[in-house]
Amino acid sequence: MQTLKIGDVTITSIIERDGPWRKPGDMFPAYDPIVGERHLARLDPVVFDPASGKMVITYQTFVVRTPHHTILVDTCTGEDKGYPAPMDFPKQRWLDEFAAAGLRFEAIDYVFCTHLHIDHCGWNTVLRDGRWVPTFPNAKYVFHKREYAAWEAATKRGDNPPGNVWTFNCEPIVAAGQALLVDDDYTLDDTVWLSPTPGHSPCHCCVNIKSGGQRAVVTGDMMHHALQCREPDWSTIFDWDAKEAATSRRRFLSEVAGTGTLLLPIHFPAPTVGRVEHDGERFDWSFVR
Ligand SMILES: [Zn+2]
Repeated sequence: MQTLKIGDVTITSIIERDGPWRKPGDMFPAYDPIVGERHLARLDPVVFDPASGKMVITYQTFVVRTPHHTILVDTCTGEDKGYPAPMDFPKQRWLDEFAAAGLRFEAIDYVFCTHLHIDHCGWNTVLRDGRWVPTFPNAKYVFHKREYAAWEAATKRGDNPPGNVWTFNCEPIVAAGQALLVDDDYTLDDTVWLSPTPGHSPCHCCVNIKSGGQRAVVTGDMMHHALQCREPDWSTIFDWDAKEAATSRRRFLSEVAGTGTLLLPIHFPAPTVGRVEHDGERFDWSFVR
């Protein structure tokens, strides 16, 4: 994604990994190959790799620079977490792109996590002398309080997943006094605020950005692939509550379709940013280039 400018705000992507990743039939339990192939033939070619039959999925962080703050939204998988393949992405690309964006860890004012999954809060922390500490020493980290509580409870029950995600990436932020545990109507200022889109995770939120009369929304994992604009009811195997995820997706897409709102889904490949239009019961996705 090239740097996106809306009003006084710039948004830049920092990529951890990209490329063909999963077959749609492995991702969407409701997948119908005949319907899916018809949609895929009409979608932008960057979203699907016909040679492997896999959807192209990116893992990225967005840097949002407002006149007042430097903000990261979602922090990929991070380093030293010990995740098994295929989640053991090489880390240098993310670090290189972070530096190429002109950033230092000390310069980050806020870290927003749309939700607390393995690939959205990894760079929250780094391992220093055997302890997990906040990567960004001057940042406040914005977590939804009930999302945080749900993963704390799941971890204490010994659920797998979430494995170590809460222990490594979330609890050390609270212990360091750098967490803001918020509700889903949290507003940072008149430029950045949350809105609830639960289902993929217990309290998944979108991050809204408004400046100069334009609106952009980091949609986290409210949807993973452009196929879900054609079939909003196709939830993924990773959704906490598949039905609620579909309800949130349809409600959100209905609200923004035809409004010119720029959408930034974390897992959409470059150019990532796009818009949706109504098409009967479905939605049309188009990238902004
Ligand atoms: Zn994700």
